[in-house]
Amino acid sequence: MKKILQDLSFAETESLVLALGEKKFRAKQLFEGLTQGKAVSAISSLSKAFKERLLEEYEDAPVKVKEKYLSADGTEKYLFELADGNLIEGVLMKYKYGYTQCVSTQVGCRMGCKFCASTLGGLVRNLTAGEILSQILVVNALHKEDVLGRGKEARAVTNIVLMGSGEPLDNYEETVRFLRLVTAGEGLGISGRNISLSTCGIVPKMYALAGEGIPVNLTVSLHATDDITRARTMPVAKAYKIEEILKACEYYFEKTGRRYYFEYTLIEGENCDESHADALVKLLKGKPCHINLIRLNEVKERDLKALGDKAAYRFLGRLEKGGLSATLRRQIGVDIGGACGQLRASYLEK
Ligand code: SAH
Repeated sequence: MKKILQDLSFAETESLVLALGEKKFRAKQLFEGLTQGKAVSAISSLSKAFKERLLEEYEDAPVKVKEKYLSADGTEKYLFELADGNLIEGVLMKYKYGYTQCVSTQVGCRMGCKFCASTLGGLVRNLTAGEILSQILVVNALHKEDVLGRGKEARAVTNIVLMGSGEPLDNYEETVRFLRLVTAGEGLGISGRNISLSTCGIVPKMYALAGEGIPVNLTVSLHATDDITRARTMPVAKAYKIEEILKACEYYFEKTGRRYYFEYTLIEGENCDESHADALVKLLKGKPCHINLIRLNEVKERDLKALGDKAAYRFLGRLEKGGLSATLRRQIGVDIGGACGQLRASYLEK
């Protein structure tokens, strides 16, 4: 695989342009073109000779849309192709305040969670920062017309969630580099407040992230109230205990001032009867956190059942009565295989 220009910050792009013997202002043209989601060959302000020189070493377009599906509710699901032919997926969710894009951080995943389709074939490879970023750049480019009152900035995606395929903290370096690139003023300039990073709870990396100075919203996939139950669906629970995860969350709060979040997927017969609700209250009461209850998106390769709607609202009610801040996530995009890894899995099968 060739190198990826989108991996570079503006300063690094400038150094590259100068090293190739071009004038400094070419860096701005190149960087702006890439930030607009253009392939190198499509940046009209650059000379043909310079572009040819760049393309000897760098990919023209590291992430391409291979397929796009539109849900009845407006949600868009993307299957992206990387330069080496690997496939990843992403989701664009449309809200009144803006668009939220869910990005992948790895091809596949090695965490092995029982309810998740991303991990079925294990980890193939890490994505580079530029490949994570490019998912947003190409989707933005497809929605130039939708920009919500932001002047000439061509940016439709206002919020990002790192909740696609992969475990972001298992690809720590590139994920942090991506966060720096996407929040940088010369680039998309998306605020850390509008970015959520979801982890299955890799404790040492949670501490590291707290020290990076990029205060994103930290979200932990909890899905159980005790380590034994948790380990049944999440193998990572054998390495890191819930108690250690909670300590790391507290530390994150102290360092960044940001409250933290928990995802709790409701799996029938597994983690969502009254005793689990009460245990969750006991575990989290008084902590600066919010719980997002998620309906299980049933994965056909896995034998787990979603909790019915009525019971889900009862579970939510019990948490609220116990004093927790919680919401039950609206289910969107189900008709297009919205859950992690479903689209890629079905595509690979074909
Ligand atoms: N590896 C990270 C981020 C990717 S998963 C993490 O574990 O948090 C993003 C969220 O989707 C996690 O909370 C995960 O548990 C949840 N998820 C995965 N597959 C799901 C499914 N089939 N139904 C509902 N939620 C699912």
